[in-house]
Amino acid sequence: MSNDVLLPRTFADFPTTFKGETFRPSDDGYAEVRKIWNMRRGDEQPALIVQALDADDVVIAVNYAVAQDVSVAVKGGGHGIDGMAMPHDALVIDTSKMRAISVDPDTKRITIEAGVLLGEMDAAGQQHGLVVPAGVVSDTGAVGLTLGGGIGHLTRRFGATVDSVLSVDVVTMGGRKVTASADSNEDLFWGLRGAGHNLAIATSLTYQGHAVGPDVMSGLLVYSAEDAVPVIAGLDQAMARSPRELSVALLVMPAPPIPGLPEHLIGTPILINLVVYTGPLDQFDEAMREIRNLPAPLADMVGPSTWVETNSIVDSFEATGRRQYLGGGYMPSLNADVARIALERIAASPRPATPGPSAIITLPILGGAIHDRDENSTAFSRSGAAWLYEVAGQWDLPTADEEFLTWIQDTMTALAPHVTVNGYINLSSDRGAEWLRGQYGSPEKWERVAALKRTWDPDNRLSYNKNVARAFAPNPA
Ligand SMILES: Cc1cc2nc3c(=O)[nH]c(=O)nc-3n(C[C@H](O)[C@H](O)[C@H](O)COP(=O)(O)OP(=O)(O)OC[C@H]3O[C@@H](n4cnc5c(N)ncnc54)[C@H](O)[C@@H]3O)c2cc1C
Repeated sequence: MSNDVLLPRTFADFPTTFKGETFRPSDDGYAEVRKIWNMRRGDEQPALIVQALDADDVVIAVNYAVAQDVSVAVKGGGHGIDGMAMPHDALVIDTSKMRAISVDPDTKRITIEAGVLLGEMDAAGQQHGLVVPAGVVSDTGAVGLTLGGGIGHLTRRFGATVDSVLSVDVVTMGGRKVTASADSNEDLFWGLRGAGHNLAIATSLTYQGHAVGPDVMSGLLVYSAEDAVPVIAGLDQAMARSPRELSVALLVMPAPPIPGLPEHLIGTPILINLVVYTGPLDQFDEAMREIRNLPAPLADMVGPSTWVETNSIVDSFEATGRRQYLGGGYMPSLNADVARIALERIAASPRPATPGPSAIITLPILGGAIHDRDENSTAFSRSGAAWLYEVAGQWDLPTADEEFLTWIQDTMTALAPHVTVNGYINLSSDRGAEWLRGQYGSPEKWERVAALKRTWDPDNRLSYNKNVARAFAPNPA
């Protein structure tokens, strides 16, 4: 190997026809542009970040990557769980300047460009009383979320985000602009809805919006550790008897300083139920009947709100720029065993050395409309998904990495008897080739995803993701 192979790349001959700004490590603004959510990979230095202004810019960047025979990383909202959007020494196509949103109130269709964030999509849709059912943290990239599936407070009512996608405009790894929809490139359309990060670069997406809000009911119910077991176990059946307009997300965590919570409980395990109701307001009390039949909360903060406020309640739990790891997947039901494990594991979680949330086990409800569609309708897998579970650690000091990673791994092991093999690739860190093959739901679906990868990205240019090519390689990494 010659010495120049070891020199940092500069991509000095990147085409001047590219309209957007470009950033190399020595450029002003580089540090700001390379920021991502997960600080565990926040120090890597991409060789060149190119901020595309439109699909033609993406074509130029892809053609350049092909000519150089290098991989490309794609950065949307920078909220990838693994923090793979800004890899060391890489060429990064950053879509964050592509922020156009259009809403057609007649057809209720919402079209966004690749750099749009969830909070912006919510705000634009709500001007016409519409939403795209998506995720719960405002600064998550809408396209990065959709290409993996998309889960949030409206999943039970309207299905996963992919279920509302009408068409996707992409640039292929051959540098072609292609539209995928139910009647154009159908196979690619199937794959983009769940395995999209691996197949092409999406430049814009059109969704079928749904009428929701602006007025909704939402807020937190806070339960003591003693009541957490009957509440968690009881919610499985209680929610089965509740309307789809009602959604819950359970958070088991060391109690943060919540107004009204007794001082002595702060830092001890508690259960928070984030309730979101988007149905007719005069039917709210009836919708809550089953939840109210469970043990009473210590604090009840559920009340009138707007959709936009409601869909940013979780923002403060998920600050950008900390070290993060997340294990996650699906549960077919909740029971007392799961509840006890969650409480015991939170009691055993690492003591945080810095302020902010540290360890959280989250159990958002799925079920409902997510099962109106067949498992094979999209690459995104939904079979057996009654609840999502997430075991999350957030910390700041590299010296705490091992303690948090061990805690998460041990918690995943404890929960393993209660989870499905398939899962949701976006809300878990990459857990290896065997895990990835299982995520898509069946060997047949995995084969279909792998075949699409071979067709649409045969050289694995899109490798900075939960990588399908690595998982079908003879000796997977
Ligand atoms: C704080 C937080 C909250 C979250 N909440 C939810 C939630 O409520 N519901 C949910 O379903 N998910 C949620 N997620 C997961 C999120 O959906 C995924 O991590 C998603 O991939 C983030 O997309 P991004 O564009 O922000 O991230 P990036 O890091 O920019 O990209 C993530 C991946 O998507 C690829 N990608 C991005 N843009 C494109 C594109 N245009 N074409 C092709 N590939 C692309 C990247 O290459 C990378 O592999 C959350 C994540 C975080 C960090």
